[in-house]
Amino acid sequence: MLVTLLGTGTSHGVPVLGCNCKTCCSTDRRNHRNRCSAYITVNNVHILIDTPPEFRLQALKNKLKQIDLVLLTHQHSDHVCGFDDLRRFNELQQGIIPVYGSPETVIYMQNMFAYIFNGIEEPGGGKPHLHLESITDKLTFKEIDILPIPLVHGNIQVYGYRIGKFAYVTDFNLMPESSIDLLKDLDVLVLGVLRFRPHPTHLNLEQGLDLIQKIKPQQTWLTHISHDFNHEELETSLPEGVRIGYDGLRIEVREQ
Ligand SMILES: [Zn+2]
Ligand SMILES: [Zn+2]
Ligand SMILES: [Zn+2]
Repeated sequence: MLVTLLGTGTSHGVPVLGCNCKTCCSTDRRNHRNRCSAYITVNNVHILIDTPPEFRLQALKNKLKQIDLVLLTHQHSDHVCGFDDLRRFNELQQGIIPVYGSPETVIYMQNMFAYIFNGIEEPGGGKPHLHLESITDKLTFKEIDILPIPLVHGNIQVYGYRIGKFAYVTDFNLMPESSIDLLKDLDVLVLGVLRFRPHPTHLNLEQGLDLIQKIKPQQTWLTHISHDFNHEELETSLPEGVRIGYDGLRIEVREQ
């Protein structure tokens, strides 16, 4: 399994507009973070997690040619506002693309993107063709088991996802014990950790490191990172097995 982190930034992205801090002015490209998404290739199946505002640019940069399945973590703008750009993949693949998320996310998406789901054919066909469906339990897609991981993100419930020895969990301030149980025996965890200070809807670094102690993955990559974290400065102070993700990072995960 190959996982590519297409974007690793918080909702503002980094550099933050109008900010002159050290991270935002850095020339280290690892400090330039587009909004979060990931692309997973497993058994020749290509899975996209989230369609952030820079999705088109991420797809160009990483030369994405195929998307067989889209998994949505939740409906916040920084995770879905590149949704319309899926339509180019309909053309490339000559087919409808399935999209899955939580029941709450699916209802939001139907409202936010009503023109996509209203059943009316537009002249010129200028909208994506998607099969949007909610999941509440394990999804098996082309023999790949995908497990949604329920998480609490302020007032809403969001999903992380586990595929084999890999899991992707971002945008939450609380992980229920029942979800921690779903993340045993992981090789690679991609974990949303926002900044040093506490935040009402995200983990800060201290909370993230505490959670890693409970889950005990072999390796953790942090994502959904604000400009608080300067890549080079922070990476040297993290515990063994915990690293900072960056846009374009490729992670090999063994298949069990
Ligand atoms: Zn977010
Ligand atoms: Zn800044
Ligand atoms: Zn969010």
